[in-house]
Amino acid sequence: MHQNLKPNLKQAAAAAMLLAASVAGTTAHAAPAAATNAAAANATADGARRQAEIDAIVREISPQRMRAYVEKLVSFGTRHTMSDTKSDTRGIGAARRWIKSELERCGAASGGRLQVAYDSHVHPVMARLSSPTEIVNVVATLPGTQAESKDRIYVVSGHYDSRVTDVMNARDDAPGANDDGSGTAAVMEMACVMAKHKFDATLVFMTVAAEEQGLLGAENWAKLAKEKNWNVAGMFDNDIIGNSHSDEGKVDDKQVRLFAEGVQPVKEMSDAARALVATGGENDSITRQLARHVKETGERYVPGFKVTIVNRRDRYLRGGDHIPFLERGFAAVRFTEPAEDFSHQHQDLRTESGKKYGDLIEYMDFNYAANVARVNAASLASLALAPSAPKEVKVITKNLTNKTELAWAPNAEPDVAGYRVVWRDTTAADWQGAVSVGKVTTYTSDLSKDNVFFGVQAVDKDGNVSPATYPMPAR
Ligand SMILES: [Zn+2]
Repeated sequence: MHQNLKPNLKQAAAAAMLLAASVAGTTAHAAPAAATNAAAANATADGARRQAEIDAIVREISPQRMRAYVEKLVSFGTRHTMSDTKSDTRGIGAARRWIKSELERCGAASGGRLQVAYDSHVHPVMARLSSPTEIVNVVATLPGTQAESKDRIYVVSGHYDSRVTDVMNARDDAPGANDDGSGTAAVMEMACVMAKHKFDATLVFMTVAAEEQGLLGAENWAKLAKEKNWNVAGMFDNDIIGNSHSDEGKVDDKQVRLFAEGVQPVKEMSDAARALVATGGENDSITRQLARHVKETGERYVPGFKVTIVNRRDRYLRGGDHIPFLERGFAAVRFTEPAEDFSHQHQDLRTESGKKYGDLIEYMDFNYAANVARVNAASLASLALAPSAPKEVKVITKNLTNKTELAWAPNAEPDVAGYRVVWRDTTAADWQGAVSVGKVTTYTSDLSKDNVFFGVQAVDKDGNVSPATYPMPAR
């Protein structure tokens, strides 16, 4: 599976970004000059346009197919990580063979570029594994088509294992329709739809095992990516994205939560983390920039559906497959429905005082789940079509001045048309101003570096905008 991905020597400079969709009208600062207004209007026109190809991808995501995937996953009875691997009809072995064969079928039907493989390792006994267990991820890779971008990788995942109340119970039925048949179905649907398209960067569609036993499948792949120095520029974890009804009866099918951590929990604080904290940039980590890019892109391509960024790693008491990526310094976010129904997660199938428990398909909303998949697909497509976020972005601090001098390294991609400088108040969540500065590597703004946060984005000739990179101070 991985052999096609050449190790990238550069650290994932990931930063993501984006966009000040509503920029021209909401610039928070008095524009220094009319010219700046004109430039900002320009930036809005090119950066906020919808690409026909991304619209086509979003349109093709099908709630009916996602339902069929979840029905099939549920039919394996249990997909517990320690369940039967020999049967063709029950247990996690049958489930993963079916996922692999489905992905191979769609890959073959869409030009044969999708490479499907198992990523497998045997995990020793631990608290949540009573015997050494083979943990198998199913990984479908769509290689990028631009020489300068194919080493840049975006990963989207869901976990296909399931559980009931007792996490060691590998025997009883554990339908895992929503947790996480929903994420698995979204990843399969995206792989099948997107395999027909060509992207500059590489996309990895991954369904992982042993999430419920301690994120073991995702951890194995994240570890490998770190060892091989792969440039994982963004990772999306989809876990519990298929139900719009909460336990308390609330219905909310108009938004998805996007969990995005700030300063990353790598064991030793990296130079990047130290510089972020030193300059007040804790809300400008590569994960937060990725989250801004997802919110802007998702809301542009799926009108009426909101991406609600939550500035946290995950919900209380819960974790997910984005965490092993965060711990290795990659930008990673988690998608989860807005109002969960805990009586239909991790529960033995039963009825108590007239109330039904269990993660059954009847509690799902596939139109909702399809919208979450559309937000994912639009964001992945936009990231993989766009240039990488600019590298070596600096804010020059050698003189005391109220202006801001920015400098960055030129992007390597041949289709880069220029750069955009974006900014916002230090208390604002999203970019408020943007200016297209042309194909240059320095820019001086009349706004003070002390008063606003800046970012720099690369734009290609079709108007695909990269995530923003937060500038580090340099003298
Ligand atoms: Zn889950």
